[in-house]
Amino acid sequence: MKTTTPSKLEKIIAAGHYAVTSECGPPRDGRPGVIEEKGKMIGKHVDAINVTDNQTAVVRQCSLSACIRLKSMGLEPVLQMVTRDRNRIGMQSDILGATAWGIHNILCLTGDHQRFGDHPNAANVFDMDSTRLIQTVKMMRDEGKLLGGHEMHEGRPKMFIGAAENPFADPFEIRVLRLAKKVKAGAQFIQTQCIYNMEKFKEWMRQLCDMGLHEKVAILAGLTPMKNVGMARYMKNRVPGMDVPDAIVKRLAGVPKEKQAEEGINILLEQIEELKQVKGIKGFHIMAIEWEEKVPEIVERAGLYPRPEVD
Ligand SMILES: Cc1cc2nc3c(=O)[nH]c(=O)nc-3n(C[C@H](O)[C@H](O)[C@H](O)COP(=O)(O)OP(=O)(O)OC[C@H]3O[C@@H](n4cnc5c(N)ncnc54)[C@H](O)[C@@H]3O)c2cc1C
Repeated sequence: MKTTTPSKLEKIIAAGHYAVTSECGPPRDGRPGVIEEKGKMIGKHVDAINVTDNQTAVVRQCSLSACIRLKSMGLEPVLQMVTRDRNRIGMQSDILGATAWGIHNILCLTGDHQRFGDHPNAANVFDMDSTRLIQTVKMMRDEGKLLGGHEMHEGRPKMFIGAAENPFADPFEIRVLRLAKKVKAGAQFIQTQCIYNMEKFKEWMRQLCDMGLHEKVAILAGLTPMKNVGMARYMKNRVPGMDVPDAIVKRLAGVPKEKQAEEGINILLEQIEELKQVKGIKGFHIMAIEWEEKVPEIVERAGLYPRPEVD
């Protein structure tokens, strides 16, 4: 596969390796060291590190600043950008700022609605949705144009463009069609919502492959280790769009409390092995929410370490 940007993540995928990405959630304050610590913890075990953008609509240190910090540590950040909080002026400006710092990956999201976060009465923006943001980054990169018509003669973004997708949200029948729209807009990689229902995920992948989308976009399977049965029940019952089968809850409930975290990691490792057999999977996106210290162990035990070197 031919690469289009200087992104290391793109090169890993193009070289035919399974990509491994993970995410760092920035702190809810201005401490500089938190992202640095997380970056040090997982940096050698992944190809790129996503930095979430005020996820669950809760205010956190900004994604761009945390990405710059990771970049300055020699790591490969993925700038997550939601359209909830900024209009097209603000977002294009941040993309140019990221470009100036050599950030070459972006994950374009609409974002969690502010109603669910810590500022439910905040005004939202939604000047664009994720698909329009994907188109915008592509236009800035490939045509050197801003939405207002200005032409950039130098300093175009060189972004490997990604998006998220939830294979489990209703109505299931239109999930792949929504994905196809994002791919048509310019998405080159997809990081999925956390997978627990393997059968449904495989059916989504089958539909996607039937449409030939696996040849146009790299699917990175989203995985989140369960820390205990309480987390599994919470994810099952309280998190919209999450599909946690009863079998997983039962399996965790069946082991003593002090062994549940280990069992959660075992489940995730079994999922990785199963996913390696699924046509179209190009890598794994490990979202170990506030449990980043487990990422190196997961990557090593999954046989995905050491990470390949690419030019
Ligand atoms: C890997 C990953 C990372 C994420 N990171 C962040 C983050 O950093 N910050 C954050 O705030 N959120 C984050 N989210 C949450 C995500 O933004 C929401 O789950 C969102 O509702 C769906 O993803 P999207 O943003 O790409 O929305 P889109 O796919 O662009 O959907 C746009 C809107 O349409 C709605 N929609 C989706 N499907 C349908 C449908 N079938 N019918 C009608 N309406 C529909 C969605 O609810 C959403 O409001 C992340 C999710 C994933 C999977």
